[in-house]
Amino acid sequence: MSKKIHTTRNHSIPEYSVKITKQKGIRMRVTPQGKLIIHANPFCTKESIEKFIQEHVDELYFPLKSSSVRLFGRSFQIRKVTGSSNHVSTCEHELIIQAKDCTLMEKVYQDFLKQTAKDVLSDISDMIFLRVQPILTKKPKILIRRMSSSWGVCHPDKGSITLNSELIHYPVEFIEYVICHEFIHMVEPNHSPAFYAQLCKVMPDYKRRIDLIETSNEKQYLM
Ligand SMILES: [Zn+2]
Repeated sequence: MSKKIHTTRNHSIPEYSVKITKQKGIRMRVTPQGKLIIHANPFCTKESIEKFIQEHVDELYFPLKSSSVRLFGRSFQIRKVTGSSNHVSTCEHELIIQAKDCTLMEKVYQDFLKQTAKDVLSDISDMIFLRVQPILTKKPKILIRRMSSSWGVCHPDKGSITLNSELIHYPVEFIEYVICHEFIHMVEPNHSPAFYAQLCKVMPDYKRRIDLIETSNEKQYLM
């Protein structure tokens, strides 16, 4: 397979390189370095390639359905690029989603959110368990799933708690509070004075942490 480099100064399309392939039609991708690569067979003319780029260039950079996301209380603008691998990274105020082709963007993004929830919520649970250890001797199993009406649920009979995967959009201090709350429910199932006494002992600033989330719609899931 030979590689031929084309560059253009045409203002309506970005600079690009052409890689000759045997496949039918024209495809394009952006390298992690931001270079636009066109895959085309030897019969494609320069005109047909540039027409293709003009028609499809927006697909390389167009924003997802929602153009921003909040992660751990911080806002990120979403940027989509195509490239040689599927990957999500953050850079200052941007969340960059790189996928091998445009149709994979949403899946790459959703997989990233799912993995982040799994990794971060387990790490925070480990730290919070150290705080509640005098009360709880065995660390509950952490289950994570998307829930529509609560931030966390505890199952003392099964020795586990379920956390809402949507928590990753909120500040870490609030997530710590939710986990602490559910851990204490393992020994104090109701919101009794004994429950709050334990909560105050383990997390004296819990009220401030609740106030980190803004709307009453979010707060109604607190129980
Ligand atoms: Zn509760």
